[in-house]
Amino acid sequence: MVELKTDTSIDAMYEAGQVVGRALTAVHKAADVGVSLLELDEVAREVLREADATSPFLGYRPSFAPTPFPAVICASVNDAIVHGIPTGYRLRDGDLVSIDCGAQLGGWAGDSAMSFVVGTPRPADLRLIETAERALAAGIEAAVVGNRIGDIAHAIGTVCRNGGYGIPDGFGGHGIGRRMHEDPPVPNEGRPRRGMPLRHGMVLAIEPMLIGSGKDGYHEAPDGWTLKTNDGSRAAHVEHTVAITDSGPRILTAR
Ligand code: MG
Ligand code: MG
Repeated sequence: MVELKTDTSIDAMYEAGQVVGRALTAVHKAADVGVSLLELDEVAREVLREADATSPFLGYRPSFAPTPFPAVICASVNDAIVHGIPTGYRLRDGDLVSIDCGAQLGGWAGDSAMSFVVGTPRPADLRLIETAERALAAGIEAAVVGNRIGDIAHAIGTVCRNGGYGIPDGFGGHGIGRRMHEDPPVPNEGRPRRGMPLRHGMVLAIEPMLIGSGKDGYHEAPDGWTLKTNDGSRAAHVEHTVAITDSGPRILTAR
């Protein structure tokens, strides 16, 4: 069931979203060659603490997970697509990092992710990230009253495929509200004019995931959480929490 949010609730979700945005900005700033993923998690924890926010990631245990998630960010490096667990791994020159972060504030959740390169970037990685950002922008642009979920999926998928990139089937965006994961699912590929009609008050986390090689294959790492590309190629993941309103999409996790 899809819960429509009131304008007051959307304003409250914006506050949660802004905490997520600040956490991501702080993590991005702290990320450098030699910095560990656990240190980045600590940076995000500090931002949540300062805001009196909690983490919807910490202790999260969906049905597929063997263990509760131990951190407030997902840190997915190079061939990791999403759901990377922060470890003592120290970032190396040229690493492609995707950071996903959530916050729970005043009873409302925010969810957002960004990809970037640490140190000297490879041109192919910059193109991958830039395409992921364009796919996200296209998905947000399609998140308007009168469109359907399929229009968002189609917009994202078209940018990804035109860029020559793969899309991991079975993972994508979602409704969000008091809980981080609500209905409806928001796939990263689909047919236009299909699926649920978009209405004022729907809030969606839109999150393209792109595989650099153009192949779609992925698998779960032995930790039971991290999704990795099958061919070892690099991946990007970007996400915003977006409210659909009569005056257009409102990005609640804008940085
Ligand atoms: Mg996320
Ligand atoms: Mg999400």
